[in-house]
Amino acid sequence: MTILDRFRLDGKVAIVTGASSGLGVALAEHLAAAGADVALGARRVDRLADTARLVESEGRRSIAVATDVSSPQDCQGLVDATMAAFGRVDVLVNNAGVGTARPATRETPEEFRQVVDVNLNGAYWMAQACGRVMRPGSSIINIGSVLGFTTAGLPQAAYSATKAGLVGLTRDLAQQWTGRKGIRVNLVAPGFFVTEMTEQYPEGYLESQMGRVLVGRAGDPAELAAAVVFLASDASSYVTGVSIPVDGGLLTS
Ligand code: NAP
Repeated sequence: MTILDRFRLDGKVAIVTGASSGLGVALAEHLAAAGADVALGARRVDRLADTARLVESEGRRSIAVATDVSSPQDCQGLVDATMAAFGRVDVLVNNAGVGTARPATRETPEEFRQVVDVNLNGAYWMAQACGRVMRPGSSIINIGSVLGFTTAGLPQAAYSATKAGLVGLTRDLAQQWTGRKGIRVNLVAPGFFVTEMTEQYPEGYLESQMGRVLVGRAGDPAELAAAVVFLASDASSYVTGVSIPVDGGLLTS
């Protein structure tokens, strides 16, 4: 096997949540380009159909399943549909996420709980459902954030707490499953990537943060996908339980 062969995902099946916009679309497309069939989950199923066409244009198979990751039943349904269509799950990318910027004194319990339900609980329901069927050699990748490690000028208690929570979830599932089940669990922590999520930021906010980014610009989704393909593939067979920033050096500055 050549070193580049280790990055291939031929014959593998990946699930990507939050694949209806932004980073999830790019992650699904690049996992397919690396050889995986990809099952797609999110609430906007019409948008998932567009992503499915991108996967198919890479010569891979795809299914689109309406999924609200805050529902354990929906998460089980996505995994069941993937098993029914493809017979296996090798890779889970927990990418679905919502961001809010609410001053702590004004954030309602419902708003806080909603972010936790999607970003943290949803990742756990998906990991549980996949952990029951994944075979040795499988890989779970949680999409965290640099906000799991630092602050960035906006009031984001709920978002930051969930992203820090994913770091602990990653570590614990890795210690439960790597040795016993052969499932590796890792996290990537993106810095700034222009998506629908960042479009909600106040005008000029992104530009104001660029001084903290050593590379000096926002990331290209393909740059995040490269790290995800690495963690999904046998190229990272000796990597588990870690959080890898893909942030242009933001956490170092
Ligand atoms: P985005 O374009 O807003 O995409 C978010 C995705 O999550 C959408 O596909 C959305 O689909 C899905 N989603 C939201 N609530 C959901 C739910 N209840 N059930 C299922 N899916 C749900 O944002 P993005 O920037 O690509 O974010 C993707 C991930 O990267 C998130 O976890 C985010 O925290 C993380 N991240 C992004 C950045 C950045 O700079 N963009 C930085 C750090 C981390 P539906 O609305 O169709 O359900």
